[in-house]
Amino acid sequence: MSKPATKNPPASTISVPLLDVNRGNSQIRDEVLQAIARVYDSGKFINGPDCKQLEQSFAKITNTKFAVGCASGSDALLLALMSCDIRAGDEVIIPSFTFFATASAVTRLGATLVFADIDPVTFNIDPAAIESAITSRTKAIIPVHLFGQCADMDAVIEIASSRSIRVIEDAAQAVGARYKGQGAGSMGDIGCFSFYPTKNLGGLGDGGMLTTNDPALAERLRLLAAHGMQPRYYHREVGINSRLDSIQAAALNVKLKHLEQYANLRKKNAARYHELMTASEHNESIKLPSASPNYDHVWNQFTVRVQNGQRDALRQHLSDSKVGSEIYYPVPMHMQDCFKETIVLQNSLKETELAATEVLSLPIFPELTETEQQTVVQQITSFFNESANVESQIRRMAS
Ligand SMILES: *Cc1c(COP(=O)(O)O)cnc(C)c1O
Repeated sequence: MSKPATKNPPASTISVPLLDVNRGNSQIRDEVLQAIARVYDSGKFINGPDCKQLEQSFAKITNTKFAVGCASGSDALLLALMSCDIRAGDEVIIPSFTFFATASAVTRLGATLVFADIDPVTFNIDPAAIESAITSRTKAIIPVHLFGQCADMDAVIEIASSRSIRVIEDAAQAVGARYKGQGAGSMGDIGCFSFYPTKNLGGLGDGGMLTTNDPALAERLRLLAAHGMQPRYYHREVGINSRLDSIQAAALNVKLKHLEQYANLRKKNAARYHELMTASEHNESIKLPSASPNYDHVWNQFTVRVQNGQRDALRQHLSDSKVGSEIYYPVPMHMQDCFKETIVLQNSLKETELAATEVLSLPIFPELTETEQQTVVQQITSFFNESANVESQIRRMAS
């Protein structure tokens, strides 16, 4: 006799997406569409009032004096380096364990990438590794606030400031994150943010923002993002065309009001994973991410380490069970094909290479439900139970 269909299926049979942007977006649909309609009717698609408003609110939430909109997080990094006059012959220190844009901004300007290893616990750049990567040609350091948690900025700034090295924060994954009370993007010379739809403050397409406390840098960034043009058709330098559309700004102004709530939901989900995974057995091969004290982690990603070479098999099991996951990032920058011929490695990147084989990011988006989280943890547990059974069978057969 077949069981009657129930309205709430058992946790183990539901599918869980890595991210579902529609859940959050549908809750503010009318408000966003009204904002877009307002821009449509105004006809001011570039540099409209919504852009100014977003820049002002953004400066406020990041605790900075100036915010300058641009077309993407990748452009923000490029513009930041341009405004610091980074060029051929200069060295820029970055973590190799990051998204590609951190690295390509450097090479696009003809400057030289120098990689520093990461801290195995936070996945962020290791200040000691920066120290040993510094040369007389080092002009900038780009700490990346990976997965929503700030890098150890006191140490980074101490290394940089005594040598007049610029610090550009890649805060693409860390909008709203704090470090000892200071906002991500407010500690270095320039902060770079992304509104790519999957980020914590995601737009309806590409978008980016730059933050700084330095009025001269703010003016230069604005100039460079608009063809270096001032006044109209007179070009003081060779800039690029990188603008944040009014329509994106209008939508982001609506979303920004909910940012704290989104962050709180992500924090709640992170805490719940800790609870559920600590309570379940057979998960000793999984190392949970930790939020350092005094850091306000905004959980752009919930990234665990899967040890003993089991990461890819676990990911396959999750995929077979319709549980979404992703590997951020499988190939460190120094191992990318496009950099192979130009990169000269001076420093050990042991932790970076190990992390690339162990990391696995699990669903953490704000609207993820408790049942979905239970499913994720149950599937992880069932994977380890199965592999434990297989191992004991092998042991029995061998004896
Ligand atoms: C997303 C991201 C970027 C690039 O942002 P885009 O808006 O997609 O260009 C840069 N750095 C990091 C660490 C990112 O996660």
